[in-house]
Amino acid sequence: MTAAANAADHLELGGCDTVELAREFGTPLYVFDEVTLRAQARRARDAFETRWNNSTLLYATKAYFSPFLADLYRDLELGLDVTSEGELEIARRADFDPARIYLHGNNKTHAEIRCALEMNVEHIVVDNPDEIPIIAALAHGLARSPRLLIRLSPDIDPHTHRYLTTGVADSKFGLGVANGEAERGYRAIARHSNLQVVGLHLHIGSQIFEVQAIVHALERALDLAADWRDRFGFELQELDIGGGWGVAYTPEQQSIPVDDLAENLCAALRAGLDTRALSPKVKLLLEPGRALIARAAVSLYRVGSIKTISAERTYASVDGGMGDNIRPALYGARYTARLANTFNAPTARAYAIAGRYCEQGDVLIDSIKLPTLERGDLLALPNAGAYQLPMASNYNLIPRPAVVLVRAGQARLLRRRETIDDMLACDLNPA
Ligand code: PLP
Repeated sequence: MTAAANAADHLELGGCDTVELAREFGTPLYVFDEVTLRAQARRARDAFETRWNNSTLLYATKAYFSPFLADLYRDLELGLDVTSEGELEIARRADFDPARIYLHGNNKTHAEIRCALEMNVEHIVVDNPDEIPIIAALAHGLARSPRLLIRLSPDIDPHTHRYLTTGVADSKFGLGVANGEAERGYRAIARHSNLQVVGLHLHIGSQIFEVQAIVHALERALDLAADWRDRFGFELQELDIGGGWGVAYTPEQQSIPVDDLAENLCAALRAGLDTRALSPKVKLLLEPGRALIARAAVSLYRVGSIKTISAERTYASVDGGMGDNIRPALYGARYTARLANTFNAPTARAYAIAGRYCEQGDVLIDSIKLPTLERGDLLALPNAGAYQLPMASNYNLIPRPAVVLVRAGQARLLRRRETIDDMLACDLNPA
């Protein structure tokens, strides 16, 4: 949101010259813009709160989490969808209200469940039948029983990438509606006097551009809630319809406008509850990750070797790649890029932007038209905030990048660059 070209024709973010940032903090560098971070969260929160009074926006921390983000989302009164002890620990250190934390995971460990219960995390989202007796045993004797949501696998295809599709019948996530798994889960939970099912959960995928798919999933959940009410006396108190809101990474795409999304989903929920004579007091939970954070960061890379293979094909290699951004190699994610040190220079030719890691598949952008590149140029890739840093690795024993936060001309380090000592700290040599 604060991106602009300054008088030197350098890309500026949050009032900071990216060429200066790269000089000061090194590259690859992840630059988060505080204005964008706050605006995206507020906009999404308000879009739903104004349409559904009893709603809570949970930030899906898997997209990227850090102590700074925990403080920011706590202050904006969001909740959290967390999946590990590490994510729980960041929330604990930030004094995050445990009533606003939901524990997820398709293979939760005993330690994770225990940790959540000790922190008084109120909600656990059940993803597998066999975790039910484990939760019951670990919660035994606690003053307050955990409130459970059952994650449904509703068999709805949102037509996104196969690796980002999580709500079809053949998925490792959720309890099947059609095959009766969800109902068996419900009955199993009812046998434990210290557990209660308060709601249903859905998350049918990521990078969804078809809002109608989420509406269908929501309706399937309401059908089930009405059926269970009639047969078991179930009361739907909470409905979590997940995240997955599509974000534009390239000029041809268009992000889902959050107000339209909220309008559609809240209207469908209102009508759906009414048609089935379900209580309108249900609490609505949303769980976006990417839509809150992707756009808030830009990754900066230094251009190194430039190699021309043919008249059509030139590789420009940068000093990062799949070690800090696995998405292109993992599922063909597409990105755009701009030259940060001459922002408005006219485009001259197509380049493949290659990473520096020892995999032929380590190509960040297969083909993009850019001004003529030279060694030392600074390349900026927008939409770097989600699922890049949290999936980063030390492949080739290369340290992971630094992260800075910019605002009003000030840059603060959020994560220092890893050192070789950091990387080797866990290795032992008993010989
Ligand atoms: N909720 C659950 C259960 C997820 O698994 C995910 C992502 O995989 C999300 C929410 C967030 O998805 P997105 O970042 O696409 O909004």
